[in-house]
Amino acid sequence: MKLKIHGAAGEVTGSNYMIDTNSFKVLVDCGFHQGQDEQKHEGEAFNFDPTSIDALLLTHAHIDHSGRIPLLVKEGFKGKIFCTYATSELVEILWRDSARLMGEEAEWRTRKNSRKGLPPVEPLYTEKEVESSLGLLSPVPYDEMIEIIQGFKVRFREAGHILGSSIIETWISENNVDKTVKVVFSGDLGPHDGVIEKPPTLIEDADFVLIESTYGDRLHKSLQDTRSEFEEALKEALQTSAKVLVPTFVVDRAQRVLYELDLFQKKNPDLKMPKIYLDSPMGIKVTEIYSKYIPLLSRELKEMFLKGDDPFEPENFQFTRSSDESRAVNEEVSGIILAGSGMCSGGRIMHHLKHNLYKPDTHVLFVGYQAYGTLGRRLVDGAKEIRIAGEDVSVKAQFHTLNGFSAHADRNDLLEWAGNFPKKARFIVVHGEPKSAQALAMGLNDKGYAAQVPALNDTIDLLAAAEEKAVKMPVISQKIIDSIEMGPQDIMQMLAAITQKTDEMQRLNIKSKDYAKIMPLLVSAKTLLETAASLGKDVKKSA
Ligand SMILES: [Zn+2]
Ligand SMILES: [Zn+2]
Repeated sequence: MKLKIHGAAGEVTGSNYMIDTNSFKVLVDCGFHQGQDEQKHEGEAFNFDPTSIDALLLTHAHIDHSGRIPLLVKEGFKGKIFCTYATSELVEILWRDSARLMGEEAEWRTRKNSRKGLPPVEPLYTEKEVESSLGLLSPVPYDEMIEIIQGFKVRFREAGHILGSSIIETWISENNVDKTVKVVFSGDLGPHDGVIEKPPTLIEDADFVLIESTYGDRLHKSLQDTRSEFEEALKEALQTSAKVLVPTFVVDRAQRVLYELDLFQKKNPDLKMPKIYLDSPMGIKVTEIYSKYIPLLSRELKEMFLKGDDPFEPENFQFTRSSDESRAVNEEVSGIILAGSGMCSGGRIMHHLKHNLYKPDTHVLFVGYQAYGTLGRRLVDGAKEIRIAGEDVSVKAQFHTLNGFSAHADRNDLLEWAGNFPKKARFIVVHGEPKSAQALAMGLNDKGYAAQVPALNDTIDLLAAAEEKAVKMPVISQKIIDSIEMGPQDIMQMLAAITQKTDEMQRLNIKSKDYAKIMPLLVSAKTLLETAASLGKDVKKSA
């Protein structure tokens, strides 16, 4: 009975884990690598046989968890895909969008190649594989224990991250072994004070917990601070009667911003507001799905819906579906325009940027993370001239970066959620940059839990590990340590590693002939440590 880590080890994207027993093989998530992880993994094949997989469990619709499923199907996977009902609807929109984007990219590369006499480029998958994948979806309700394969039970619980997101509890047993092992997959966890979703379900029992660590080393701004920051930026932007552009992810973030705009209007009834547009056919479909699953939303939102007040429809709001409607928005002098993509790497936000960035009274509100290498990032970093659709655009607009809107738990949320498990639970820390993963593992350790940060393709023997005594130190895969760029917080980790070594040495039975070799090394080590400690003191004094 093994757990294999096929993705999101020491990185945020590409979630993919396998439960491998002598009776069945099940995957949990099968996502794309995105942003900086994308190039690193380009063209990588699955390092298992897709036809050998019996079923797949999907925690939520985000493409870094679901994006490779149509490829898995293309390569022969025929099992059922279990997810919540809301996820089954959202993932259809995201898969179709990703097939369309890959199709466009392949066409563009093919044209480029043909001029050089090179062969055409095929997309990873097309609508056809998306259709076949949709046929395998097998939606399940939250909170119900279901035996999906003999000896394998699962239960989907609220994760509070996006609509339909789930924590998955699994009970695994295999032939000729009379022990059942419980593994919990956290998926992506929402913050404890999430605005749109309910908070993540507290789970009280597990042998192993795969826990995400996106913000394992960071805290978010408080909801109150985030809201006042949004209010300030918006008030400043509305002083001019020009456009306010909001590049946004269309799943969850767009709905959150619409709701925040609604609250803003209610709080400032006398302020003259321009028209608000959600200029994204995909965003419109997603918003409709959010409005359809009202029982899954937070109490705050449910109460609004009950009163007949749609939280996703602020005053003076309009969906723009067709490209003609979108172009008409361009003709308007003012307006708050929400459009994808969230990092300005495509989508309708591009033509709004092209037509407005050169104007000094345009305001751009960034409400989400901007990854390195994206146009959004270059704008945040102060680029003065950019190129959009073959045209040079001089950048004169004003920018506001709001970092508080997160659909993820922060360090405190993660540790608090983890603290509900009994001390026998072992944590496997995934879905985070090496530093965040490591910081979370150390935090879990401080709480008395065994925690490890696995590397890509590591295998954890669930039966053997469950019998082992919990270790005092977090076990960090060497490959993960190697990939860390050193910073001040790494000193604590290094000191812990040194303590571990000295503990080990004290238990060694050193033979007399080795003294001569070891003692001079220890003397140098002691001198070096004394020097390091005195440097540390200086730093403290001067700070
Ligand atoms: Zn996610
Ligand atoms: Zn994720």
